[in-house]
Amino acid sequence: MKEPFRRALGIIRTLRQQGYEAYFVGGAVRDDLLNRPIGDVDIATSALPEEVMALFPKTVPVGLKHGTVVVLHEGTPYEVTTFRTEGTYENYRRPESVTFVRFLTQDLERRDFTMNAIAMDEAGQLIDPFGGQKAIRERVIRTVGEAKERFSEDALRMMRAIRFASQLGFTLAPETKQAIIEHASLLAHISIERMTVEFEKLMAGPFASEAFLLLAETGLFAHLPGLAGRKQELLQLSRYDWTKLSSSVERWSFLCGLLRVGEEAAAFLRRWKLPNRLIKEVQKILSSLSIVRSYDSWTKERLYEMGSASACAAEAVRSLLNGENVEQNRSRLLELFDELPIKERNELAVTGKDLMEWYQRPGGPWLAEALQKVERAVLYGHVENNKERIKEWLVRCNQTQEKNC
Ligand code: ATP
Ligand code: MG
Repeated sequence: MKEPFRRALGIIRTLRQQGYEAYFVGGAVRDDLLNRPIGDVDIATSALPEEVMALFPKTVPVGLKHGTVVVLHEGTPYEVTTFRTEGTYENYRRPESVTFVRFLTQDLERRDFTMNAIAMDEAGQLIDPFGGQKAIRERVIRTVGEAKERFSEDALRMMRAIRFASQLGFTLAPETKQAIIEHASLLAHISIERMTVEFEKLMAGPFASEAFLLLAETGLFAHLPGLAGRKQELLQLSRYDWTKLSSSVERWSFLCGLLRVGEEAAAFLRRWKLPNRLIKEVQKILSSLSIVRSYDSWTKERLYEMGSASACAAEAVRSLLNGENVEQNRSRLLELFDELPIKERNELAVTGKDLMEWYQRPGGPWLAEALQKVERAVLYGHVENNKERIKEWLVRCNQTQEKNC
């Protein structure tokens, strides 16, 4: 048993000593079998939430309605969830309330895919009633039970299927894929926030290109915000190596760039209910791309104005869209940035106060202009970033009509 599970064994043992059943379940068990880094270790138990809370000194009732209690064990929080089914599904969504059940298999049965419906006991023995290990060996995503039924219960599972394909490089079982084709329109019942979470994970996966192909082939894309009618673009998206992009901002910018949403970018991103901060950053990148058409269009000033993070993000997006070497351009740009004499305004050796003193003039529009002139001269190396040198340079500029003034 690997370390992340061993660290949580105390919780399972305590529950069992009190006569309850308790197992590791879900993504962590799957990732262990896949030899992937193990994320959050989740526990399923026959104990009711109140019983769990009574047994451990530090607990947080995060989702009592769903049977989930967070247990703080040796400094790490673990989700401990009572065996449950989801009762009746309404409106193609997971229900607000759940029914607690007595047996582990009933809990595993409500889970989405066979690879996610494996439990592990305290001895490391696997309980796998739906063939999850086989699916993992065959690298297949298959619903637990009838796919059409499972997607009608909760349409988000269709998005989850394709995001797991992106993260794991698995294929969809034929009947699972067919059911997505037939039930794609049910996605309309799912909240945008939940779709966005899955879509962001999809774009970030190592097999995102394959996932975009699946979105196109199954028709699921047509029910995602702003993507209806854009099958050709979806197919195009599947031909790019998304792993070259390294942040959410880069991925959304790339998506907007390829879809040519242009002026509509903010409206498009708002439909996905993305935070304003991200929308602003994407807009900044997109507007720089309308000017920087090739690597050579990067000027020191543009680089300085944008800052290295945004400029490098823009350059990565531009390079990928144009089929250029992303890593190489990114690192060239970073080198160029490192060579700038100043990286930010506050590194300038003079302030507005200095200039007002030297010129004996009160503040006004002239000041911003003068500061900008100094900044530019320092940036291009016409004058050293040093108070005395800058003062001399300004005096010289006033007297002569030197070309770099
Ligand atoms: P990740 O590594 O991305 O967290 P995960 O498999 O742990 O993947 P979670 O969303 O954390 O995914 O869900 C934990 C478990 O709960 C899943 O493994 C699955 O068994 C179950 N599950 C989650 N969402 C659903 C759903 N919509 N329908 C059915 N079962 C679900
Ligand atoms: Mg998880």
